[in-house]
Amino acid sequence: MHIKEIFKKKTVFSFEVFPPKKTSSIDVIYNTLDELHDLRPDFISVTFSAGGSSNNALACDIASRIKENGNVPMLHLPCINYTREEIDATIAEIKARGIENILALRGDLNPDIPPKKDFRYASDLITYIRKQGDFDIAGACYPESHPDSMSLEEDIQNLKIKVEAGADHLISQLFFDNSSFYEFLWKARAAGINVPIEAGIMPVVNKNQIERMVTTCGASLPKKFVKIMQRFEHSPEALRDAGIAYAVNQIVDLAASGVDGIHLYTMNNAYVARKISEAVSGIINIDRA
Ligand code: FAD
Repeated sequence: MHIKEIFKKKTVFSFEVFPPKKTSSIDVIYNTLDELHDLRPDFISVTFSAGGSSNNALACDIASRIKENGNVPMLHLPCINYTREEIDATIAEIKARGIENILALRGDLNPDIPPKKDFRYASDLITYIRKQGDFDIAGACYPESHPDSMSLEEDIQNLKIKVEAGADHLISQLFFDNSSFYEFLWKARAAGINVPIEAGIMPVVNKNQIERMVTTCGASLPKKFVKIMQRFEHSPEALRDAGIAYAVNQIVDLAASGVDGIHLYTMNNAYVARKISEAVSGIINIDRA
């Protein structure tokens, strides 16, 4: 099933998972996938390391398991640190497993790993994958601009190149202020980017995530969000419930504004995915006007 077909029918609701560390039992992620299956997402995507991690074989296994469970899988594929031969091998693996959906990415530049020379941008990979078979190809987008870009306008011009290279739809970086997503969407549409754009929503439900948000994530943190995090950071249950409620509020507002889809960064937390899915199922499952 090509994901682009689902956008024609409904507001897409998807999940993202990541391969666990080698020290964690494989059963943990497989149990999580079983729980996510029950929530009937439109697809589940699996992250893939940009740096050639041995966990990438596991990413393929997880995508296969998603398919066996009856869900639609999408495999992320970053290119900057891979040669054309390595990308060929992964595409062959994806084909052999019957996976039809790829999120084509550049990957973060790593000062310790000199980039390989075959693919410079995600758009180069998209052009390449287009010639390799009948894949549904997604790309990433950044409501508050990619950090490598000088401005949102410049980033959107580059995003247009990515769409013209053959991206069927886009998934956004996480954000906490819906107004930044709406401004981005308006500018992207004005620039002639007409493919479906899913909003990336990350429920922040524990203290580690808050710390990571503050230090590494470029997303702006609205006052309301900061107040909630500061008030509840020492109370795990309160923080979890507040983080879920904040994400639900974002989704309700986005759905009311006619968003093409919601991509939930589940952080492999099936409990949180369930709470959010239950809260928004009536909203997500109505036909789009
Ligand atoms: P690109 O689209 O190539 O853009 C990178 C930068 O180059 C931007 O500033 C862009 O404006 C600029 N640019 C693009 N094309 C051109 C051009 N033709 N000329 C000049 N400038 C250009 N990383 C992983 O390693 N694994 C994952 O599984 C993963 N999953 C992700 C999922 C989502 C939904 C998102 C939003 C990101 C994910 N990432 C992942 C992170 C991603 O790899 C990084 O954000 C990376 O730095 C950029 O990737 P990209 O595909 O957006 O790059």
